[in-house]
Amino acid sequence: MTENSLDPEDWDAFRARAHAMLDKSIDKMANAREGCVWTPVPDDLKSPPPFPVHGDANKADDQMAALLPYGVGNTHPRFFGWVHGAGTPSNIMADMVAAAMNANLGGRDHGAIYIEKQVVNWCKSMFGFPATASGLVVSGTSIATLVALKAARDRMSNFASRQSGIQAGRLVGYTSTQTHSCVARTFDMLGLGTDALRKIPVNDAFEIDTSALQSAISADRAAGLTPFAIIGTAGAVNVGAIDDLEALADIAKTEKLWLHVDGAFGATAILSDKIKPRLSGLTRADSIAFDFHKWLHVNYDAGFVLIRDEDAHRRAFSERPDYLKGTDRGVAAGNPWPTEYGPELSRGFRALKIWAQLVEHGTEKLGQLITQNCDQAQYLAELIDADPVLETRAPVALNICCFSYVASGTDLSRLNEEIVIQLQLQGIAVPSTTLIHGQTVIRVNITNHRTTRADLDILVDAVRKIGAQLVEGGEFATA
Ligand SMILES: *Cc1c(COP(=O)(O)O)cnc(C)c1O
Repeated sequence: MTENSLDPEDWDAFRARAHAMLDKSIDKMANAREGCVWTPVPDDLKSPPPFPVHGDANKADDQMAALLPYGVGNTHPRFFGWVHGAGTPSNIMADMVAAAMNANLGGRDHGAIYIEKQVVNWCKSMFGFPATASGLVVSGTSIATLVALKAARDRMSNFASRQSGIQAGRLVGYTSTQTHSCVARTFDMLGLGTDALRKIPVNDAFEIDTSALQSAISADRAAGLTPFAIIGTAGAVNVGAIDDLEALADIAKTEKLWLHVDGAFGATAILSDKIKPRLSGLTRADSIAFDFHKWLHVNYDAGFVLIRDEDAHRRAFSERPDYLKGTDRGVAAGNPWPTEYGPELSRGFRALKIWAQLVEHGTEKLGQLITQNCDQAQYLAELIDADPVLETRAPVALNICCFSYVASGTDLSRLNEEIVIQLQLQGIAVPSTTLIHGQTVIRVNITNHRTTRADLDILVDAVRKIGAQLVEGGEFATA
């Protein structure tokens, strides 16, 4: 009787295959500066092939290698769209080791769990949280926000809401108009409804208006509702604004509310000596959601949720049915298990690439690169302000510069949107767009350790050239 497995028959041949693929992967990173930032995906990649019934290793390898050029472009130094990290070559190794261990970090007693525990401890010290706090590696800030606000929600009812649910429309929370959409989505997923998230206006610096916040809380209390959380932002997605976190912490304390901070990219700027003083309030938050895959360049995906009240965090998620019973000794030891702090049971070894990034590069260098990006954003703003056809459209608080090509008698929203598309299609650079005071602007976010000032010079030259051509073409003229 022959019995099969998925292991290779010839390990030497497998080794050669794997080494060849490793070389191709390293080439991809080594040539990150070359070629177009983004290349449209060819049609043959878009059309789904037939369901594979008979396996073919060569086909798998060839098609994976063929895929390598068609990323979104975030490994390139002129990728400035949305908020993406640039990744590191070394993380290829961490992912290789993680795959070799094939670890499941839901729980139990094994090496990988201790690496995640080290990461959790480092995150506590990074933000000045007490040793009694808890944390969990997750896919990103969206899930981190869900985990944190579920703990906040459940603590309000002394965890009865886990069984009985909640009365929709009773619990309300507060955030600014600049907050990322993942917060409203969390309110939706937690059964609170998005109406229960009050969007407080912002000041000229795009930071939450704390007196308007105070009034909204009072009005809701007067109406018999139950405020439970304030969601501040450290590094808002449109312009990089940092809310007055100290003021939010004061209000949260007086009003007995849970202060959650969305610090997806901005919180990690605590490693920058230059930005750190502006983030002092983070230490007072009840929870922080942030990403390692953005400004700390861990290869996707890697986010984190840090929670001050470990008891609330665990009680919002912990379930230990008979088949998951813990023990003091043996493989089922190592309590509490990570699964008690989040919605997932089976969890991959994301912690390893975070750990490896921190150990190899250290927080000092990672912080300096954050400062470098903020200085580059200032440099870009100077280039723009010095140019008669370009105008900055929001203060550059951090690493994001929003600007506009200007020309009289022109629909500037449509013009600037087209400039961005042309930059992308021509492979020169990938900025994105956003709305500032109702107008579409070019948004350049620099969370990229490969970017140099020369890349920003190239961007500005191209914007000027494409803008002039489009204006001359007359297609965007207002009647
Ligand atoms: C990216 C981002 C998010 C969402 O994070 P994911 O990791 O993509 O889930 C939330 N808030 C801000 C400010 C962001 O920049």
